[in-house]
Amino acid sequence: MGIYEELNVHTIINCSGKMTYLGSSVLSKEVGEAMVQAGGRYVSMDELMVRAGKKAAELCGSEDGMITCGASSGIIAAVAGIITRGNPLLTEQIPHPDTRKRQIILQKGHVIDFGAPIRQMIEVGGGIVREVGTVNKTNPYHIEESIGEETAAILYVQSHHAVQTDMVGLKEVTAIAASHGIPVIVDAAAEEDLRKYTAAGADLVIYSGAKALEGPTSGLVVGKHRYIEMCRAQSKGVCRSMKVGKENIAGLLKAMMLYEERQKSRKYRWDDILKCLYDGLKGLSEIKTEISPDSAGRAISRLKITVNREACRITALELDARLREGEPAVYARNHHADLGYIELDPRPMRLEDCGIVIDRIKEILKPERAE
Ligand SMILES: *Cc1c(COP(=O)(O)O)cnc(C)c1O
Repeated sequence: MGIYEELNVHTIINCSGKMTYLGSSVLSKEVGEAMVQAGGRYVSMDELMVRAGKKAAELCGSEDGMITCGASSGIIAAVAGIITRGNPLLTEQIPHPDTRKRQIILQKGHVIDFGAPIRQMIEVGGGIVREVGTVNKTNPYHIEESIGEETAAILYVQSHHAVQTDMVGLKEVTAIAASHGIPVIVDAAAEEDLRKYTAAGADLVIYSGAKALEGPTSGLVVGKHRYIEMCRAQSKGVCRSMKVGKENIAGLLKAMMLYEERQKSRKYRWDDILKCLYDGLKGLSEIKTEISPDSAGRAISRLKITVNREACRITALELDARLREGEPAVYARNHHADLGYIELDPRPMRLEDCGIVIDRIKEILKPERAE
């Protein structure tokens, strides 16, 4: 009997995405084995952190890297690192460092909540958030004019949670930052591209290990060597409370080594899943189905299911709730259920789940058909 059965914790068919509240990712056999192997031996953690960070950085086309226990701790390490510049006294003083240069500039459209507020991560790292621009429009001059003696860095958020239009793009942000000699941190937690943001001139780039990378619960900061050294110094300060274990370091690295290969094959797997769902649900009068691209521009397509209210008595919100209540529970992507549609995301799904999901949807819709 597995731990979940022993605890009577229900397992879920995840059609929602890489969701933290559903356990983010499932591990491949290779990743699991790497974790068991690494967990069975003693090592010097300092040495492991340096070597593993370097290896992770190589895989991202960056100079150096640091593995953390999540992207949110990566934000804290990056902010604390840059503010203290690795100075041991300032490091011990985080989150209240005795220095004036601790402002972190954030465009208003980037002031997100990813499950916790990003402002809080900046503040735990000793930063003082300086929001610039407006929620629906930020211009380069909003950033430029806010830079001063107290500016430590600009944090750029690349995320589906952020406002997608009329914010200043990364290229422009890095150009402004460079002309003032301040670093740019990119939060790319859920992104798939491991090279793009470093190539665009970011000094530090942060990823979540358990989202696109499909590693264990972990995170990653990559970027310029001198900044990474400053981040690593935080292990004698605020980062002690969020240290990453040797087994998770090994698991993340293994997942990263397999990443490119898996990305190639999983595109086919996702397409197969989408086709299976599409074919299984077509021709129902209660819903309209279509393959829809990711609204934040990532290389992901999902099956969009719009409830046809003329032909069906329940709303998309109710359909979503009923799917979650059932056995097994089916968790669809419901960000827009109030707008009348839900989505099925092929990334966390297995082909063998499709039949169950199709049957459940039909089962719920049929008695609700408006005659
Ligand atoms: C998920 C996410 C985070 C937090 O990542 P963890 O690895 O869960 O700490 C931070 N920023 C963004 C944009 C995210 O999507």
